[in-house]
Amino acid sequence: LAHSKEDVLKLAEENGVKFIRLQFTDIFGVLKNVSITVKQLEKALNCGVMFDGSSIEGFVRIEESDMYLVPDPATFTIFPWHSRDGVEARLICDIFNTDGTPFAGCPRYALKRVLKEAREMGYTICVGPEAEFFLFHTDSNGYPTTSTHDEAGYFDLNPLDRGEDTRRDIVSTLEKMGFEVEASHHEVAPGQHEIDFKYDDALTTADNVVTFKYVVRAIAQLHGLHATFMPKPVFGIAGSGMHVNQSLFKNGKNAFFDPEKPLQLSETAMYYLGGLLKHARGYTAITNPLVNSFKRLVSGYEAPVYIAWSPRNRSPLVRVPARRGEGTSFELRSPDPSCNPYLAFAVIIKAGLDGIKNKIAPPPPVNQNIFQMTEEELNRLGVNTLPQNLGEAIIELQKDTVVQEALGTHIYEKFLAAKKLEWNTYRIQVHPWENAQYLKKF
Ligand code: GLU
Ligand code: MG
Ligand code: MG
Repeated sequence: LAHSKEDVLKLAEENGVKFIRLQFTDIFGVLKNVSITVKQLEKALNCGVMFDGSSIEGFVRIEESDMYLVPDPATFTIFPWHSRDGVEARLICDIFNTDGTPFAGCPRYALKRVLKEAREMGYTICVGPEAEFFLFHTDSNGYPTTSTHDEAGYFDLNPLDRGEDTRRDIVSTLEKMGFEVEASHHEVAPGQHEIDFKYDDALTTADNVVTFKYVVRAIAQLHGLHATFMPKPVFGIAGSGMHVNQSLFKNGKNAFFDPEKPLQLSETAMYYLGGLLKHARGYTAITNPLVNSFKRLVSGYEAPVYIAWSPRNRSPLVRVPARRGEGTSFELRSPDPSCNPYLAFAVIIKAGLDGIKNKIAPPPPVNQNIFQMTEEELNRLGVNTLPQNLGEAIIELQKDTVVQEALGTHIYEKFLAAKKLEWNTYRIQVHPWENAQYLKKF
């Protein structure tokens, strides 16, 4: 359903669109908007729109602040809710320098570069995300809390709160915007939900994740609830992941499937898997970018801790879902929904491609429950862990030149500087837990 410029102008006119949000994300995945009226649409489609890039964190210095937003007509979508001022639509944009070259700090561009590399190797890459989130109540001042009156658990049919209605409304809004929602259900924790939409090529899916998060929050707000994609909002219950399902296609055929091979996984699949596992420590700072991300990656809540794979059980980092043939895929379970999807997909795919290029064989699968194994057993099998905190993840990112290359120098440097600051700010805080443990005793 890719629109041309002409389609966009026609659709805008036919639907009485008044305003168009030109959308892009900063390197932390935060959605930004520059709004134009429909009168400016044709010009914007033809020449782009100039904006001040210095206002965007992680972009550029003041001296070089002029940049262009160039809308991608294929992303034209009309918002199904009505704003007071008339019908609104959006276009997702690429960012260019004034000299017409792509801006190195544009996350969408980083992903496009990796996908081009894949195409040159003959591959199209499809990605399907499973984003989880919490719906929380707001307090009397409208601030988000972490409380929910919902007592439901996994797949429960009749939760007691507004969560169910809200989720249904989110799903129907997404469908009106062209999403194919495949599944939506209550997750294990109270107030936790998951909505899965159909896989697509990696760029479209990254665009969709950004839109998805926006819609979830907007609709939750209309229901008086706060939706959060924070990875671990409450200690002691499950956190929110964003499992990333991946498959490779070559000449229209699933390149991971080979009926002749063990587990019916092709040589390409095994090498891709080898790359995913080899670079797991290096890309974690991108797939799990917050101090809080690492509070989720602990045992006991179905989130991965160990770098291992399995065709059978759910606990390891990479799971091979049972379907084969055109549906053959790997599910990477570490990413969380606070990541920038463009950068996350860029580094994950780059890791897999590196595996294919350098024929990186994965270790044998681990089919026992990894969380029940002793440290000796894990050592004997050579099973490493994911980084245990943001500080460790930063160190690993600094060691992994393949991951750095996927980001490009500009994004890598800005991201690293911001994350070092974040980690160091956190590191020196005195946590309530410390006072509870030590204040009296020492
Ligand atoms: N909430 C779990 C996580 O943090 C995942 C649960 C599931 O398997 O869907 O990854
Ligand atoms: Mg889930
Ligand atoms: Mg899953």
